[in-house]
Order: sequence, then C-alpha cells, then structure tokens
Amino acid sequence: MSDKYCVIGNPIGHSRSPDIHAAFAAQTGQDIVYERVLAPLDGFAETVRGLIERGYRGANVTVPFKLEAADIATRLEQRARLAGAVNTLRFENGEIVGDNTDGPGLVADIVRNAGVPLAGKRVLLLGAGGAARGVILPILQHGPAAIAIANRTRATADALVAQFAGQLAHPKQMAACGFDDIAEAFDVVINATSASLSAAMPPVPALAFCQGTLALDMMYGNKPSPFMEFAASHGATTRDGLGMLVEQAAEAFAIWRGVRPQTATLLEQMRTQQ
Ligand code: NDP
Repeated sequence: MSDKYCVIGNPIGHSRSPDIHAAFAAQTGQDIVYERVLAPLDGFAETVRGLIERGYRGANVTVPFKLEAADIATRLEQRARLAGAVNTLRFENGEIVGDNTDGPGLVADIVRNAGVPLAGKRVLLLGAGGAARGVILPILQHGPAAIAIANRTRATADALVAQFAGQLAHPKQMAACGFDDIAEAFDVVINATSASLSAAMPPVPALAFCQGTLALDMMYGNKPSPFMEFAASHGATTRDGLGMLVEQAAEAFAIWRGVRPQTATLLEQMRTQQ
C-alpha cells in the first residue's frame, strides 16, 4: 500500500503541493499518495492525531497552523526551533518531528535557480512574521555580509535580531530597522510581508534597489506583485515565490523519502501554466 502524506491548512483548496509531490513521486519512483486536508481552525492538533491513527507518515503545514505545528511537535529540528514555526511534520516511532523547509527552499531558489550566491551579499528582509523567521538561519548559513530586517512593527524586528544574535559570526552582520530607516541599496531584497496577498506594497523606498539587485517576493500568482513591479521599475531583477514553493517541497520530500527530486523541469512547467 502507498505511504500517505498530506498538506494541512485552512483554507487549503488553492494549495499546489499535491501536484508538486505527485510529480516528485513519479520522477523518483516513490509509491506515495499526497492529499489536501482541511483542518478546522480550532482543530489542528486533533486533525494531526487522526492522521497518525490512520497511518500517515508525514504532513506539510500551511497557513494558519505553522506556529501550532511547532507547539504539538514532540521534537523540533534546530531550524524549526529557531523559527518557532513548522511546515513539515514526520510521524515516526511515536514521535511528531517538526522541521521547517521554507528557509532552505528560499535559499535554494536564490542560489541555485536564480544563480545569485548569498555569500558576501547585503540582504534586506522585509517583514518579521512566520515566513521571515524561517529564512533567517538558512540565509545566515550562506555567509552574507549583512542582513537588515525591516518591519512595520519595529519591536518584532528587534526581538528577532535579539533571538538570532547567538547564531552570528559577527554581531554587526544583522540589524533591525523600520522602513523609514532604509537608506541604501541592497544586493538582495526579500519581501516576506503579507502585503502582496492584498495587492498592497510594503513601504520600502526606491533607493533600496539598484541595477543588479535581486528582488524576490515570497508570494506567487499569475501576475507580478506591486512589490515586484516597483522593484523592476527601479532597476531590480525580480522573482516570485513559486521557486521557493517548489524547493521547500523538494526539501520536505527528501526528508520523508531520503531521495531528492529534481526541481528545474517542474518549475519551468509550472511557470508556463501560471
Ligand atoms: P505573517 O502573517 O506571519 O507575517 C506578516 C508580516 O507582514 C508581518 O511582518 C507584518 O508586519 C507584515 N505586513 C503585513 N501587511 C503589511 C503591509 N501592508 N506593509 C508592511 N508590512 C506588512 O505572514 P507569513 O510570514 O506567514 O507570510 C508572509 C508572506 O510569505 C505571504 O505572502 C505568504 O504567502 C508568503 N509565503 C510564501 C511561501 C512560499 O513557499 N512561496 C512560504 C511561506 C510564506 P507587522 O509585524 O507589523 O504586522
């Protein structure tokens, strides 16, 4: 019988994860089924217990359950513990193991797919919510020259910087700021705010971008976000979050199945279908 996996969220109908994992399974010859599971807003833990009872091997977790998934995990991998958020669960030997593949997915998309190494680069991260928290450690592991975290609520960015301070080789490598404090151009600007979900634009100034800046919006859709349009009009090369989505799925698949799928062809196919 096929091993069972799923993605849990609310809403969940829009999720492209089942198609991605079906493509990975076909490519690698792995015998799995992967479904969408809608959990009630007050019933995430119970939904996970039901999946375990029915023999599921693991699950991806999406909005709004990533923080709750970290709470119910009996063991957390380091990157999930630091992020305080979990997007990948595996159920093994009576344990619920929580991991976070969003950050490695983003970094793989920037470094491998976009061909932009992060070592020695100046990175500006916009936002300090669940997605931003998950990408800080993987970015730091690639040795950027500096990472600035700008958030509308400044105190949240300050708290994040304090939390990650222990992971830094050089304490001056990381700083928190408000959007008004941004006063120079960056090599890489990542929009991890949820502004694009409502077709809004985070108040990032034009001077944050220059020729050669990579501006990546974590959101994906069938047209460029206002952030991507603004960045492009100020010289940046832009990228949406589809590559991150495919790469975080590949990382989760590798955790579950011990085999890493190729992503380039699938990503190309999905882009033409967008
Ligand atoms: P959260 O709700 O946890 O965080 C939202 C963040 O956005 C906060 O920092 C908030 O600031 C900020 N924000 C919201 N609206 C605005 C605005 N109008 N102007 C400036 N800042 C704003 O969301 P997530 O971190 O979970 O998700 C963020 C984005 O990342 C979403 O677009 C999501 O779709 C995307 N994402 C994509 C993934 C992928 O695989 N491609 C994976 C995960 C997420 P404040 O603290 O002040 O409220």
